[in-house]
Amino acid sequence: MHEMSLAEGIRSIVEETAQAQGFARVKAVVIEVGQLSSVEVESLKFCFDVVMRGTVADGARLDIETVPGTGWCMPCGKSVPIKALYDPCPDCGSYQVQATGGTEMRVVALDVDGAPERAAEGVE
Ligand SMILES: [Zn+2]
Repeated sequence: MHEMSLAEGIRSIVEETAQAQGFARVKAVVIEVGQLSSVEVESLKFCFDVVMRGTVADGARLDIETVPGTGWCMPCGKSVPIKALYDPCPDCGSYQVQATGGTEMRVVALDVDGAPERAAEGVE
């Protein structure tokens, strides 16, 4: 499942950040999901809950911010909003539109418990 590997990717980022910044508990993970990323939000939430079990983000909330899709229309020579990949330009109807924004999913913030502590001994 596509969403499962995305959730595992989020877990790696959370665990690496937790280790680097020394926090023990993550309350919420904020991610951006592009409208063109073909990520199924409901199934991502489900996978997130599953893969976070037993980690610092066990039971954490997944906050999802949607990023609108944008594309570059060749004939118009400008950025246009598009709702799906391979959508035609809303202005001229051309299919020569290249997706330029809203194609990715990324972690933007972690809401953690307590102030990040200085690294444990032996870790820079
Ligand atoms: Zn156009």
